Amino acid sequence: MDKNQSAGLLFEIGQPGRRCHAIAEASGVDAAAMIPGRFLAESPPPLPELSELDIVRHFTNLSTLNMAIDCNFYPLGSCTMKYNPKRHERLVGSHRFAEQHPLQPDSTCQGTLGVLHEMERMLAEIAGLDACSLQPSAGAQGELTSLLVAAAWFRHRGVARSKVLIPDSAHGTNPASAALAGFQAVGVKSTAEGLVDMEDFAAKLDDDVAVFMITNPNTLGLFEPNIRRIADMVHARGGLVYLDGANMNAILGIARPGDFGADMMHFNVHKTFTGPHGAGGPGSGPIAVRAMLEPFLPMPRILAGSDGTFGLDENRPLSIGRVRSFHGNIGVILRGYFYIRTLGAEGLANVSRHAVLNARYLRSLLAGLIEIPGPDNGLHEFVASARNLRREKRVSAMDIAKRLLDHGFHSPTIYFPLVVPEALMMEPTETESPETLEAFAKALGTILAEDPEILRQAPHSLPISRPDEVKATKEPVLRWKAD
Ligand SMILES: *Cc1c(COP(=O)(O)O)cnc(C)c1O
Repeated sequence: MDKNQSAGLLFEIGQPGRRCHAIAEASGVDAAAMIPGRFLAESPPPLPELSELDIVRHFTNLSTLNMAIDCNFYPLGSCTMKYNPKRHERLVGSHRFAEQHPLQPDSTCQGTLGVLHEMERMLAEIAGLDACSLQPSAGAQGELTSLLVAAAWFRHRGVARSKVLIPDSAHGTNPASAALAGFQAVGVKSTAEGLVDMEDFAAKLDDDVAVFMITNPNTLGLFEPNIRRIADMVHARGGLVYLDGANMNAILGIARPGDFGADMMHFNVHKTFTGPHGAGGPGSGPIAVRAMLEPFLPMPRILAGSDGTFGLDENRPLSIGRVRSFHGNIGVILRGYFYIRTLGAEGLANVSRHAVLNARYLRSLLAGLIEIPGPDNGLHEFVASARNLRREKRVSAMDIAKRLLDHGFHSPTIYFPLVVPEALMMEPTETESPETLEAFAKALGTILAEDPEILRQAPHSLPISRPDEVKATKEPVLRWKAD
C-alpha cells in the first residue's frame, strides 16, 4: 500500500475482540471486585480494539507522512536543517541526564551544572563575548531577552533611548522583539545587492537609537562588508549592536561577532548546533553579551566555585529576572554541547567551510535553471526568485515548493526574505552529500520543464494538498467524531 494512502484512523481499523496479546485471567481473583464501585465506569470506554501489528503499522506509516530530516533533504533557508547525530540523542536520553529533576539540590547535580557552565563558556568564546545565559527557549526569546538586558543597562545609567534600527532583510522576529521590549522598531533600507544601505543607515542613526540589530551573514547569505564601520558608528552614538546569530553556521570558528563589533547576540542551538527542530520546537536561544551587560542577564547564574563545585547565584539585584523556568531547554542545550565537544574548534570551522561550499555548489547547479539575484559570493545560503516564472508562466514560488514535495524534497523557505519577490531561500547545510544536491537540482529542472498546470495543482502524492494554512493553525481538527 502507498504509505500516503492511510488505511484510516485506529477507530476505523479496529475490530471487536481483536487484541494485542492475551494474558491468562488470574484464577480465583475477581479484579472488578477489588476496585471500589465508584471508580468503575458504567460501560467500557469506546476504545478501538487492535492487534499489535495494526498499531505498529499505523504509527510507523504516520511517522513517515511528514517530511523529516531523517527521510528527506530539507533545504529550508535560515533554519539550518542539518542532520542530528543519533549518538547525541542516545547520550541526552541516558538516565544520567534524563532522570534528573530540576528541583533536586545543587549538590546532587554537579555534573549537569558543570556541563551547562562549560557550554556557557564555549558559546561565549564562539561569540567573542564575555558572558552567556542559556535560559531563552528560542532565537526569538533570545532577542527579547537581550533587548530587555539592553533596556535595563540604559535605564541603570539614566539614559533614555526609544529606537531599535533593523535592516529590512531581517527576520520578522527582530521588529517583534523590539516592540515587545518597549522600543520602536525602525527599518533600514537594503541596497540592490541586499546589504545595509549606508546612507539610509547614517540618516536614521541618532542619539535616540538604543540598539542596531543585524543578522550577519544576513538572510541573503551575504557577509556585511561594512559591519565594523557600522558598529563603530553605533558605538560612537552611545548605542549597542545586537547580532541575530541564526546564521552562525556560516562563520563558526572563522569570524566572531564580538570581534566585528557586536555587544550581544543569540545562538539558535536548534539550528547551528543540531538540536532537532521542526513543527515549531523545541528550541534553545542562549545569549552572549559583553562584560558591562553581564549584571543584567537573567538569573540564577551558574557559578563555578574555586573548589571545583558549581552553584546558583540568585542574588543579582540588577538582573532582569527569569525569562523561563529552570536553566533553559536542557535537552536541546545538551545536544549542542555534545556536538561542539565532538567536533572541537577545528571541526566547527570545518562545519562552516563545508556549509558554504555546499551552498555555493547548489547555487552553481541551479544557476541555469532559475533566476538567482544577488552576488555569487554568498556564504551558507542563497535566495532564488520565481518572479520571471510568475510573469511568463504563472508559476509561483509556492507552486514550485509544493511540487518539490512530490519529488520527495522538503520545500526551501519561500516568500522570505521580503526584499526578494517570489523568494525561494535555500540552505543545504554541511551534512548533505554532492549526490543529494545534484538530485535536488535535477528534480527542480524536471519541475520547471513541466506543464505549469501540474505545478499549480501540486502536490499530487500527499494525503492533503493545499490546506488553508491559517485555518489549519487556528482551528485544528484534532478530535475523532463517530458519525
Ligand atoms: C530562525 C530565525 C530567528 C528566530 O529564531 P527562533 O529560534 O525560530 O525563534 C531569528 N532570525 C533569523 C534570521 C532566523 O533565521
